[in-house]
Amino acid sequence: MPRSKECVIGIDLAIAIKEIARALALRVPEGRLGFRCPNCGEAVKTAKKSAKQGAHFEHLKRNVACKLSDPPRHVSLGASGRSPATETSG
Ligand SMILES: [Zn+2]
Repeated sequence: MPRSKECVIGIDLAIAIKEIARALALRVPEGRLGFRCPNCGEAVKTAKKSAKQGAHFEHLKRNVACKLSDPPRHVSLGASGRSPATETSG
């Protein structure tokens, strides 16, 4: 019988888990709790609510092929909707 080892959780629960892990000084592999993007499966981290945006997940490494990954910073997309040729790190 197949059994899933993964599920999707919301950002509020993920932040709570992160805070509990920190409070208990839990040791996790490579210092990461193992959150993954439901679209591409790559590692993500939690980002708390800020003045600019609500709480959300961020990819540890930007994935330009994933619709849920951050768009490149410092580059604005033109009206043509073309992707920028280069991307700055950050
Ligand atoms: Zn993704």
